[in-house]
Amino acid sequence: MRNSLPFAELPQMARAVSIRRLLRDGSRRELLSISALWLLSLAASIGLGLISVIFKWSGLPVHLGGLELYITVYPPLVICLMWTLTCGWWWGAIPAYLATLTLALYGGMPLSWALLFSGANPLGFAVMGLGYRAIAISRNLSSVSAMLFYVQLSFVGAIFSSSGALVWCYTNRIDSTALLPIWQGWWLGAFLQSVFLCAPAMALLWPHLERWQQARPQLLADAAADPRGSVLRLLGCVTIGVLVYGFVTLQLADNLLHAQAAGIPAALARALEVARDTTWAFYWVFALIVVFIAAFGYHMFIHWQTLTNQLVTDLRHANQRLYMLAGTDSLTGLHNRRVADERIAAEWQRAQRLGLQAALVMIDIDHFKQINDRHGHPVGDEAIRVLASEIRALSREIDCACRYGGEEFVILLPQADAEGAYAFAERLRTQVAAVPVTSEHGAFHFTVSAGIALFDPTDVSHEGWIERCDSALYRAKRNGRNQVVAEAPVAV
Ligand code: GH3
Ligand code: MG
Ligand code: MG
Repeated sequence: MRNSLPFAELPQMARAVSIRRLLRDGSRRELLSISALWLLSLAASIGLGLISVIFKWSGLPVHLGGLELYITVYPPLVICLMWTLTCGWWWGAIPAYLATLTLALYGGMPLSWALLFSGANPLGFAVMGLGYRAIAISRNLSSVSAMLFYVQLSFVGAIFSSSGALVWCYTNRIDSTALLPIWQGWWLGAFLQSVFLCAPAMALLWPHLERWQQARPQLLADAAADPRGSVLRLLGCVTIGVLVYGFVTLQLADNLLHAQAAGIPAALARALEVARDTTWAFYWVFALIVVFIAAFGYHMFIHWQTLTNQLVTDLRHANQRLYMLAGTDSLTGLHNRRVADERIAAEWQRAQRLGLQAALVMIDIDHFKQINDRHGHPVGDEAIRVLASEIRALSREIDCACRYGGEEFVILLPQADAEGAYAFAERLRTQVAAVPVTSEHGAFHFTVSAGIALFDPTDVSHEGWIERCDSALYRAKRNGRNQVVAEAPVAV
């Protein structure tokens, strides 16, 4: 089920292959094969770009039923878009820029215009790149939503690329009637090549490249910490693009009408004037609506992002609290048996690995049944709490004090030697014996017995360590209670 994908498997934000990191951390083979492939792509883009101009693959008319369309075939677009989609914007933008620059200069465009004109395809790529940086969606196009997203981005990207047609027509003094085949051929050609050539290539290639990128995360640039910037830029680009295109298209039609208006009957001229005014009025209303939709979309995005971030923070806190509660004994506030077992096992591993020393102390209240019988269960509970607070008062920060069950406690003393552990247990025993517990029948004292077991690397597991400690406690009970017994004699 899609909804049950674990968080780690959700698609990640697109991250570019960093040229700096590739030079620093890439293997020789990676560096050689990537640069060879890129230089080959650059040469192919420039060569194929020139061929497309020489053989006039621009604005080819296509008849689809009753529809007359124009298509421009421009192979460098496919090569460079593949680089952008797989490795990042710069990888595709540079060869695309150089290919267009070469053909523009070849076609006789002045250098200053050629420099601007060559930015058209990189602009389209930037929109597509922004889309993938703003939204975490897989680039393998294996789902309907991933495919739809790709098709929509391709369309917007193609429209942005085709802004170059305006520069081309202006510098070549092509009038507005001849502009349409070039402009429409450009964006339709770019869109169709993106959908019918790049998309299948991505579906085939991306799973392999993604695996390589996942295995080599050190070669990727950092993902943007906050996608807000990318979303804002994408929405801004699309809004400005739509408004500018609308404006330019209307203006061109307007100019054409003006040029042809001389000599037409007055009634027709008036009708044209009204149609023109209505169109412009509609354009400005439409422009405001587009701005509103973009602003609304952005606010919605921020709203949901804030809500989601809040939820994630709350969930993290609730989890931390639950984890703490699940490991806390409710009567004493000390750790419970689960934590005791986990910590003892971890310390056993650590001591085993690093050759450290550590001690376990097990404490049990003497004749506790009698306390319960004589004073009642609530007073028995109070005695347990008194013992717990003495244990807490005497433990160090690094110790782990746990209620192991009933009136039995375990204290793990990392880095403690035999003398240290014995001194701790003995101080606890005398301290507890001195603290009075109040009950209806007056105050009374109780005593505890303690067993100590030092970490021993010959134990096969941490359970052996606990068992040795339990036997030491058992010996303390058998020897008459109210005493500390170490598993081995300790010089004191
Ligand atoms: P010994 O000196 O040999 O330890 O004798 P003892 O009477 O203390 O024996 P034992 O350790 O077996 O006693 C456990 C008693 O602790 C039995 C049970 O009724 C009581 N107990 C266990 N948990 C609680 C608790 O949470 N509150 C109270 N009041 N009593 C408890
Ligand atoms: Mg007891
Ligand atoms: Mg007991």
